[in-house]
Parts: sequence; structure tokens; C-alpha cells
Amino acid sequence: MNDTPTHDAATADDAGWLDVRAATVVYGDTVALDDVSITVADGETLAVVGPSGSGKSTLLRAVAGLEPLAAGSVTAGGVELDALATHRRDLGLMFQDHALFPQLDVAGNIAFGLRMQGWSSARQRERVGELLTLMGLSGFEGRAVHELSGGEAQRVALARALAPEPRLLMLDEPFGSLDRILREQLTGELRRLLDELGQTALHVTHDQEEAFALADRVAVLRAGRLEQVGRPEELWRSPSTPFVAAFVGHPNRWTVTADADGLLRWGGAALGVHPVLRSAESLVVAPVAAVSVDDDGPIGGRVVRATFVEGRHRVEVDVDGAPAGEATVVVEHHRRLDRGAAVRLAVVIDQLVAVASAG
Ligand code: ADP
Repeated sequence: MNDTPTHDAATADDAGWLDVRAATVVYGDTVALDDVSITVADGETLAVVGPSGSGKSTLLRAVAGLEPLAAGSVTAGGVELDALATHRRDLGLMFQDHALFPQLDVAGNIAFGLRMQGWSSARQRERVGELLTLMGLSGFEGRAVHELSGGEAQRVALARALAPEPRLLMLDEPFGSLDRILREQLTGELRRLLDELGQTALHVTHDQEEAFALADRVAVLRAGRLEQVGRPEELWRSPSTPFVAAFVGHPNRWTVTADADGLLRWGGAALGVHPVLRSAESLVVAPVAAVSVDDDGPIGGRVVRATFVEGRHRVEVDVDGAPAGEATVVVEHHRRLDRGAAVRLAVVIDQLVAVASAG
């Protein structure tokens, strides 16, 4: 048993309790995961995001021991997991397609892992009761799986993953099949639960908003490679590549040039002198809040769309003289602007962020 990762071993290196180092996974000719290194600290939730096919599930499956590594290593609490079978890695797994067992009732589903581990019936009952209370499903023990709503079924699946008190909880698109309102509600519940339990977790999603709402840190994957890892606000404030800038949801990505005096120009507009940003031809992110409607602004354009989102008017303006592909600027405004209205825009210049153009 001494090769099983234990809670005590974890204290050896809390900075990176889970340590995935230079992991590469290959399927035939496809390099699904390419030299990826990430760590998850004790009690931390790391969300792995990226578009479909970027290698998120492969990373999770490699940590679980469901895919072999072509190169690299996975250690947990200082223990190399390579030689350990999945069921000995002390993991709780919840997948989108990990359906509940239809022939078992709710209690039977939640107790499944406990039975496999040889818990006594009395302890199983007690643990099932605890988890149902935690999930707000007290009294659901005897319910048939087909009687559950989508949200209830996901809570039961989560309870099943958490029941054996796994050292690492791994979730792969756990709310993928649910509607948006329910996803947001369950994401909030999961965040509270992970905090309450001090649970270490690795969460895979294609949804940047879900990742930001849930995770302490977010790792962005693209085509099997790690683009950036950091706290949500770090990814937002200083995206390291244009891909990350787009992925975290910055709509205003501009190719800016600077003249000898450091005056930044974007298309036909002179934006002003930035305290640090001088490099010519750099890609620059203009956060939505950094651009405002202002009669004296240097950027002229026309409103093409206005929507009302979360209490703000979100206005899309087509700018005259903007570089190709960058014509539409998104701003927020306190009142409704009509489609077709001519507007001028100003930029809070020190809120612009330069993004490395490589990648
Ligand atoms: P994601 O979870 O981000 O959608 P995956 O990890 O599922 O991405 O897939 C990464 C890449 O590996 C994709 O190109 C996918 O087509 C490929 N892939 C995934 N699983 C297999 C498999 N079992 N056999 C062959 N190729 C696979």
C-alpha cells in the first residue's frame, strides 16, 4: 500500500500537489497533448479550458491513468502515479457522459465506490446521508434515477464522485448537457462545495465563464499546447497571446502602431501616448471598459448593434478607417443608442494591454 498517494504525502509539496510535467500523449499520428506542464496546489481548483479538440479531456485522462504518457510524468504528493492503476490513484471522476447506473437507486449510485472499497453498510448509509444533505437532496435515497431532473442527476453524480473522499476531484464538462441557468446555479454550488471541503480539483470545460466563476487558476490549452496559466484576472488583464485574449472574451483586439514620439495609432485614429507601450505593430487589447462614447473622441463610427446585457447597453460600433478585421468595436454605454447613429469613441489609453504577437 505504500505506493498509494496519501494525504500526509501531500504536505511535502503544497505548491504543486499535483504535478504534471512535460506530459505528451499521442494517438496514432495525432499529438493530442504536447509537452504540457501544470501544477495544482493542495485545496486549489484548476480549470482547464480550450476549444473542442484542444486536449482537455486527454490531459484529464492522462492524470487518471486512462491514457498512457508518451513522455513526461504525473506525480501527486510527490508520488509518481505512472505505475498506479486508475482505481489506486485516489481520484473522484465525473464526466458529462458518466451516466448514473439506471438499475440502482440514488443511494446505490452514491455508495457505489464505497461498496467497491469495502465500507460497511452502516458507514455507507451514513456517508450517503451526509452527501445528500450537502447536495440539498435529503430524503432522495430511494429515488429511481429516471425520476430525477437534470440538475438533480448531476448533483447525484457529483455526490458519487465525492463519496470516497478522493484526494483529487476531476470533472470533465460536468454540466455540459444542462441549460445555461442550471449550469450557472450548479457552478455556484460547486464553488461553495469545493471551498467548504477544501477539495483539490481539476475541472475541464470549453466555457470560459464557467472556468472563471469556478477556478482559482485557469489553464488555457490550444491544439494540445499550454498557452497560459494564471488567475482569472491575470488572464484577463495580461493575456499572453492573441488566442488567450480572444478566448477570455476581449472583443477589441487592435493592431496598433507607434511613431517615434510614442504616439499610438490605430487605423486613422491617434490614440495618445502610452506610458509603457511603444512597440510598433503590436497587438493591443482594448478592454470594453477602456473605450467610451465621447463627443471629443478620436475614433469615429456608426452603431451597428445594441444589446442590453447585465444592466448595461452593449454597443457595437463600426469604425471608419480601422484595419481590416478590426472594424467592430464593442463599448458599454449608460443609455440606449440607436442602430445607425454616428458616434465618437475615446480610449483610456493606460488601460490598453500589449499582447505578444507570436502564437
Ligand atoms: P478536448 O477535450 O479539448 O475536446 P480531446 O482531448 O478530446 O480534446 O482531443 C484532443 C485531440 O486528440 C483531438 O484532435 C482528438 O480528435 C484526438 N483524440 C482524442 N481521443 C482520441 C482517440 N481515442 N483516438 C484518436 N484521437 C483522439
